[in-house]
Amino acid sequence: MMNFSNELRDELDEIEAAGLTKRERLLTSPQGAHITTVQGPALNFCANNYLGLANHPEVVAAAHEGLDGMGFGTASVRFICGTHTQHRELEKEIAEFLGTEDAILFPSAFDANGALFEVLLGNEDAVISDSLNHASIIDGVRLSKAKRFRYENRNMAELEQCLKDAQGSRRILVVTDGVFSMDGYIAPLAEITALAEQYGAAVAVDDSHATGILGSHGAGTPAHAGLSDRVDIVTGTLGKALGGASGGFVASTGEVVELLKQRGRPYLFSNAVAPSLVAGARTALRLAREGDDLRERLTKNAEHFRSRMTEAGFDLLPGSHPIVAVMFPGEDGARQASAIAEDMLKLGVYVIAFSFPVVPQGRARIRVQLSAAHSEADVDACVDAFIASRDRVAHR
Ligand SMILES: *Cc1c(COP(=O)(O)O)cnc(C)c1O
Repeated sequence: MMNFSNELRDELDEIEAAGLTKRERLLTSPQGAHITTVQGPALNFCANNYLGLANHPEVVAAAHEGLDGMGFGTASVRFICGTHTQHRELEKEIAEFLGTEDAILFPSAFDANGALFEVLLGNEDAVISDSLNHASIIDGVRLSKAKRFRYENRNMAELEQCLKDAQGSRRILVVTDGVFSMDGYIAPLAEITALAEQYGAAVAVDDSHATGILGSHGAGTPAHAGLSDRVDIVTGTLGKALGGASGGFVASTGEVVELLKQRGRPYLFSNAVAPSLVAGARTALRLAREGDDLRERLTKNAEHFRSRMTEAGFDLLPGSHPIVAVMFPGEDGARQASAIAEDMLKLGVYVIAFSFPVVPQGRARIRVQLSAAHSEADVDACVDAFIASRDRVAHR
């Protein structure tokens, strides 16, 4: 009989007292620019639904077809009897999209990163990781026996020092997020790949917040930087721009993919991506590839939001990505950000405040994510709510 629930209650109380409790809002509608929560309708500015494909009629129709044609589940992992022809088709389409030899699907990008480092790197090897890399990279790196080095976010002098320190290792792998999710900053791939080449390292990019969004045809940060042939490994998700359901992948050489199929534990021991999701993701991938118009609308929305917010005196992290961090720095920032986000929901605009430990102490923010599904009027409504709630919270 479990006898430590009371201790867990204490821990939960500490989280609550520190103002760090995360509360889930219950939605009663599909994901989209306009959603309904149990409190009422809202304009949604906190989904990774960059291209508006999460409830796109063609994606939904394709998923229905996948469901009707191939059933609800595979009831197996891939290597036993869980591989449908469409799993291989999607893998080939991802590889073609990103310009790699092959790709391998995982239940999620979290799992893709969980597999990657353990399989490719042993104790003679080194992995060099950006300090703001996604939690799944941090965990994946922990699972490998490689020597670990960490450089401050996008600090190329520190990266170079890590590369020097890692010399003598059998393999050196530099890993970075393509886009950093809390800041919307794009990784400096030109510098990273040049340094990697100079010091004989390979480069892996987790492009979860860029696939479908940046670069020619939405092929991500390597394409955006014109460096697709210089990045050795790309991990990504089907859970954001590419339909937003679930599934992740690693795209790389045939050997990397094959070894991951032989040894990647989340691949070997966790179920295949469900048939309806594979079918939906294939259509989402096609729409993303062909979606220059969607990317144009997304870029316009991000520009419009950034320019109006700056005009209204908000403190934004600079950039062009549809992730926009509206900063509330200093000691009172966390309280301010969360009070404003709460108040905005009352005005029908759904945004989320982030504070420590998700972001550094004193760097609280409201993260806004634009979508191609937003109209200009939606974006204006969001800015207007920011302004109104800032005033209301200040005059309480
Ligand atoms: C969202 C995200 C993931 C996790 O993706 P899932 O497919 O939902 O597991 C991994 N890495 C990065 C950089 C992400 O932004």
